Amino acid sequence: MNKVPIPLTDMMVSRLAYGCMRLCGSWDRAPITADERRTAMHAIETALETGINFFDHADIYCLGKSEEVFSGIWSVHPSLRSKVVLQSKCGIRFADDPSSGAPKRYDFSHAHITQSVEEILRRLDTDYLDILMLHRPDPLAESEEVARAFDELHRSGKVRWFGVSNFSAMQIQLLSHWVDQPIVISQNELSLGHAHLIQEGVLVNQIEGDGARASGLLDYCQLRGLFLQAWSPLGGGRFFQASRTERDTRIIHAVEQIARRHSVSVEAIMLAWIMRHPAGIQPVIGTNNPDRIRACVQADEVDLSREEWYELFEAGRGNPVP
Ligand code: NAP
Repeated sequence: MNKVPIPLTDMMVSRLAYGCMRLCGSWDRAPITADERRTAMHAIETALETGINFFDHADIYCLGKSEEVFSGIWSVHPSLRSKVVLQSKCGIRFADDPSSGAPKRYDFSHAHITQSVEEILRRLDTDYLDILMLHRPDPLAESEEVARAFDELHRSGKVRWFGVSNFSAMQIQLLSHWVDQPIVISQNELSLGHAHLIQEGVLVNQIEGDGARASGLLDYCQLRGLFLQAWSPLGGGRFFQASRTERDTRIIHAVEQIARRHSVSVEAIMLAWIMRHPAGIQPVIGTNNPDRIRACVQADEVDLSREEWYELFEAGRGNPVP
């Protein structure tokens, strides 16, 4: 698979990233089963074989078990660590953590960020993270605490680079003002079924755009050289479910037609639609199924024409651009 640089850093990464949110199956505290380990290893091995070198984690995925199960790969490939890019996220705390009655919340306190990284490193069985992301903006974030946490983590070599997820352009600017380290990645939901980031750019001054404000995030990231990632690029699988909406059915039909024309999978066309954008967005795919991982990787070979891109955009919007 083709590789691209992450601007502002020394990293070269595959055009697709592998997301580990579903890697261990269940989100509970039950011990990891042999079957879950086998499925996870098979998925990681397939991703590596296809040329994927970027793995996206978060401390909450499968309640920590995704990171833990991932660490099994080091015994299969002892020299792999320096050849892959590991990203994880912190900042989301579920209800009842650490004690019963605590609400679900975001936590960018110094103590929570630094403690989370210690736990991430232990579960991933590695000395360093290539990228630490703040998962979702915390309205109670204190500039001094975040800056001190980033400084300590960077100085100790535990985190090489920093990124954000689900932040607005203004929130990225504010964070950048607080911390000394550059923010190099912005990860956001983007698919044919959830295209607000792109949508707002064609709806300037239109009533239709009222529900689709992303406040120039895509433009801001391009302007400042932030690398963009798309989460749930296949809509989390919703297009393939029997319960899909009329709109999702319309999208998948349009995708199927173009997939036939290019002799590739439907997954490849959905991802190619994201990758066709000049911002160089990296989809973070989440299937555990080896055949589907290979189907996704075909996206790297697809060149959608302008007409095909707009045809798909129109299917997602439900009407032509203004
Ligand atoms: P996705 O690639 O859009 O969806 C993957 C899901 O779709 C899997 O359950 C997969 O099932 C199913 N699927 C794909 N193709 C299918 C097909 N042809 N038929 C039936 N089912 C199909 O991405 P995602 O898993 O939602 O998210 C990807 C990654 O994004 C996550 O792993 C995580 O790293 C990241 N993420 C980040 C955030 C954030 O807030 N930053 C939020 C969500 C996710 P199978 O496994 O059975 O193939």
